[in-house]
Amino acid sequence: MSSSILLIYTGGTIGMMEDANSGSLVPFDFSALLDQVPELKRFNFKIDVASFDEPIDSSDINIASWQRMVEMVQINYDLYDGFVILHGTDTMAYSASALSFMLQNPGKPVIFTGSQLPIGKLRTDGKENLITAIEIAAAKRNGQSIVQEVCVYFESKLFRGNRTHKYNTENFDAFQSANMQPLAEIGIHIFYHHDVMLRPTGPFAIESAMSNDIAILKIFPGITPVLVERILSTPGLRGVILETYGSGNAPRESWLIDLLAEAIQSGIVVLNVSECNKGFVEQGRYETSTSLQRIGVIGGADLTMEAAITKLMYLLGKHSDAALIAQQMQLNLRGELTTFSHLQ
Ligand code: ASP
Repeated sequence: MSSSILLIYTGGTIGMMEDANSGSLVPFDFSALLDQVPELKRFNFKIDVASFDEPIDSSDINIASWQRMVEMVQINYDLYDGFVILHGTDTMAYSASALSFMLQNPGKPVIFTGSQLPIGKLRTDGKENLITAIEIAAAKRNGQSIVQEVCVYFESKLFRGNRTHKYNTENFDAFQSANMQPLAEIGIHIFYHHDVMLRPTGPFAIESAMSNDIAILKIFPGITPVLVERILSTPGLRGVILETYGSGNAPRESWLIDLLAEAIQSGIVVLNVSECNKGFVEQGRYETSTSLQRIGVIGGADLTMEAAITKLMYLLGKHSDAALIAQQMQLNLRGELTTFSHLQ
């Protein structure tokens, strides 16, 4: 059965060119992008394109941009077998994480890709990324899309979107998924790891309400009470991600524990995410995280920071009850975290 794919162009380096005056890279008209990749015409299925009215550098992505992407998928959902979203690399991991929560049971591939070098450059990585992302989005087995979740395809690997992190500004393999194996590995053949892919557990649904009443509180040696106090007293604050050391550790200073306890008692959800990319938060393993556990800080397991931020935004957009949000934060909703039975 033949496929049909919608390319959604949001901006990013893949479609940028040098501004004649400033020399900086700026997004250009998407129709010119297609001229750069005549190879697309060789696919024997339908590929249509839709673009943001004003393509953006992904550093300008915000909640409204995610809602626009979701809307573009929703409007076209019945018309296409798969979606490829062209996006800047800087915030691709955030957008892929956000859409994984906003699109419930997509049942079809939604694949983010982009490039480190503009598609018009001779040595671009954009062509391979684009062509392979389309091929994966169109791939079927027994009449069903092989991939049925939100992913990032980059430099020969297909990752679960909400497990990704941009870790390299220089190399073509810009993304890593430190706590989860790729969903597919691409060489001469495309090897799909069918056993680890998500499948719908119910009907497709959109949940696009998100709240940005959150803050990230990065722990560092020498952090001061006045800084923590200021952040925690931000008007309207409903959720805080504490970025901790190692397996979830922070200074044992009583002022820090007291300020966090006070915030939690006032209804702010506080989540513990490690600054380490690989491994997981295990509160109580060291004395330096025991108090966090005692006062009700939630352990973030092996969530990436990108997944933690967008999951918190999604749950705060959906629920008002802090206890419910705290409980849902610890569940594996979209394959974004590993549930370890020995952890809280
Ligand atoms: N600044 C660009 C962006 O994120 C970088 C890229 O696309 O690689 O839009």
